[in-house]
Amino acid sequence: MRAALRSGLEGLLHYSGAAGLYARLRSLAGATILMYHSVARPAEAAWIDPPNRMAPERFEAHLRYLRRHRRVLSLGEVVERLRNGQCCPRGSVVLTFDDGYRDNLHVAAELLARYDLPATLYLPTAYIDRGENHWADMVHAALRNVRPGNVTIAGTTFDLPRETEALRSWLHADLLPATAEARRQRLIELVAALQPEAPPRLTMNWDEVRELVGAFPRFEIGAHTVEHIDLRTHDGAAATFELEHARRRIAEELGTAPRHMSYPYGRASADSIDRVRRAGYESALISSDLPLVQPGVDCFVLPRIAAPEAVSRLALWTGGGHPYLQRALLGRSG
Ligand SMILES: [Zn+2]
Repeated sequence: MRAALRSGLEGLLHYSGAAGLYARLRSLAGATILMYHSVARPAEAAWIDPPNRMAPERFEAHLRYLRRHRRVLSLGEVVERLRNGQCCPRGSVVLTFDDGYRDNLHVAAELLARYDLPATLYLPTAYIDRGENHWADMVHAALRNVRPGNVTIAGTTFDLPRETEALRSWLHADLLPATAEARRQRLIELVAALQPEAPPRLTMNWDEVRELVGAFPRFEIGAHTVEHIDLRTHDGAAATFELEHARRRIAEELGTAPRHMSYPYGRASADSIDRVRRAGYESALISSDLPLVQPGVDCFVLPRIAAPEAVSRLALWTGGGHPYLQRALLGRSG
């Protein structure tokens, strides 16, 4: 019965032209690097920009699936294999977290320890120095309960709450490529104009980072620049400062220099990639729609994807078939 089913499926694959794809999927080895941010309980989640958070129950469902069906490696193990020209087995996965949310200590680390899985956490060091919330969360906090009426930001007037989403989009477009100082001024202007309720502290301070690495040794700390700036628009000397100072701050606070870094927003210019190489790091993560890490890849542009919500999609993306499957189905070369 099973053999008949299998033969029927293979026939279908053959006649649909998908047999080649089937063969390719079977041979796709390599690792998938997943990006997470906050794993917040409801009280804190309300203050966090929705794209940056996942519910603890969902995150645990990810870990349960990955523990059972995939091979979770530390980033260091993957980098070591790449240096030796070795491939990672099919279904290899690396777990990473960006931005230093406090719930990584209170929620995510506990769950990772329960499933005995390693992870890397990338810190924007000035935010940790100040224990300051991510700017996207400050925007979210300012816009979550707006008073009806007009508000003028940078000379443009928005009619709230009707134009709340337009204001959010405008602020993200303005703040993402901005310098740290310009961003700070704009947030001061926003808070003065909207007078929102003060949010809780969502970002770890250094004592909490030390508590995390002390209690959960399988959590490795990496750098995520100083001010979480866009290294595609800020390269040259500004990038060198962001890369070297972040490395120095982590070494001062934790006693160990970070080996890995991730580009804020997953973006970098050729110049800033070169500066990461020279700043003493061993690897750097960039956003990519070709997420499978295979031998020959440059360790300073390792591709990474945002972890999807649904476990079914997680299964597809970490099985070596995404997005090669989509490309094949669309008839483009993989
Ligand atoms: Zn980030």
